[in-house]
Amino acid sequence: MVDIMENKIDGSVEVPKNFYNVQCVLDVPPPKGENLKMLPKIFPKELLREEMSKDKYMPIPEEVREEMMRYRPTPLVEAVRLEKQLKLPKDVKILYKREDVSPTGSHKLNTALMQAYINNKEGTERLTTETGAGQWGSALSFACKKFELDCTVYMVRASFEQKPYRKVLMRLFGADVVSSPSSRTGYGKKVLEDNPETSGSLGIAISEAVEDALNNDNVHYSLGSVLNSVLMHQTVIGQELKEQLKRIDIVPDALVGCIGGGSNFAGFMLPFIEEKMRYKDGIDVVAVEPKACPSITKGKYEYDYGDSAKQTPMLKMYTLGHDFVPAPIHAGGLRYHGKAPILSLLANKGLVRTVAYDQKAIFDAGIAFAKTEGIIPAPESSHAIRATIDMAIEARKKHEKKTIIMNLSGHGLFDMKGYEDYMDGKLK
Ligand SMILES: *Cc1c(COP(=O)(O)O)cnc(C)c1O
Repeated sequence: MVDIMENKIDGSVEVPKNFYNVQCVLDVPPPKGENLKMLPKIFPKELLREEMSKDKYMPIPEEVREEMMRYRPTPLVEAVRLEKQLKLPKDVKILYKREDVSPTGSHKLNTALMQAYINNKEGTERLTTETGAGQWGSALSFACKKFELDCTVYMVRASFEQKPYRKVLMRLFGADVVSSPSSRTGYGKKVLEDNPETSGSLGIAISEAVEDALNNDNVHYSLGSVLNSVLMHQTVIGQELKEQLKRIDIVPDALVGCIGGGSNFAGFMLPFIEEKMRYKDGIDVVAVEPKACPSITKGKYEYDYGDSAKQTPMLKMYTLGHDFVPAPIHAGGLRYHGKAPILSLLANKGLVRTVAYDQKAIFDAGIAFAKTEGIIPAPESSHAIRATIDMAIEARKKHEKKTIIMNLSGHGLFDMKGYEDYMDGKLK
């Protein structure tokens, strides 16, 4: 029925010309602490301006928008085959927005392009970053190639070992990829001494990337989630979705996405949240996290550091503690102890609800999706698929009318180890 691919072909849905900044209606608690003074050393000026801005819209630079047009607008598709498999009645519908179609396979390229562009304009020579599952590192490597920057990626050891081909992809785009914790940084050396067998964590990898940027001239650090600016760059997703829905005359009952730091989900739902705040309408905004890293469902809403070494400023967020090291689940992109301040605030206000699933349940859902829709989802995205399927089945049982829209944040073509472990019954 609804395949918005057509709109892409006739060009009737455009790539947005602006980013949407939810800070125009939301007072997000600012970062605080001693480490605030390091921000100008690791981030470009324009990014820091975006971080604090209250402007509702910010123009997307033409060079960035042109790059986005390689893969945007991304399709909105009805999951007709999955619906059939789940025996859903006509008035229970599942639609998904395909962020897996970007050149590096996830939504992350949306902000990577913008950050590389800004850094290039401000004379940065090299960017450092961390990567969990490898999607962020891939996206930044690609964006750095495009905007002529060198790139060093600290990759969490668990993923470095589980996903060797992500590493190859990053190198192919010209990045230098290092297993974290590494002996390149003081902090990495210390962690290795204390615990040589550690599987690493995003918190540790962030500390290493930040240290590298702080200790070198013309080197900046780039973060793929959490920051207000990053969430804003991702709003191209939700803005397109709004237009696409308008064209097919659909009003969603629920918006579902997975959360690591919170950027794909925020970019997807933020353009809808202003109305929810104003009219208290019934749209159900659902964030899905892993039980192995339950930042919102089990964490505290308080100021905490963004990294393990306490080098970053403190952010007001849902957190499990900056030294929390989650089990090495295959959804490496969701292994972060905290959540974006914007998302945390919305969850705290009750505008977003959060559910958690364990690894087996999400692989079940991911495989059902692959078999019906023909797209192998990232294990991260499978969290959203699990919740969507459960909500649809519940609506069927209760004879409710419901349209659920899910953000498919990325594909899982580099996650074969996880799928293999699942099929061999080796999943923990
Ligand atoms: C990184 C990543 C996530 C988690 O990060 P967010 O900032 O919460 O979006 C989810 N899905 C995919 C495919 C990712 O690459």
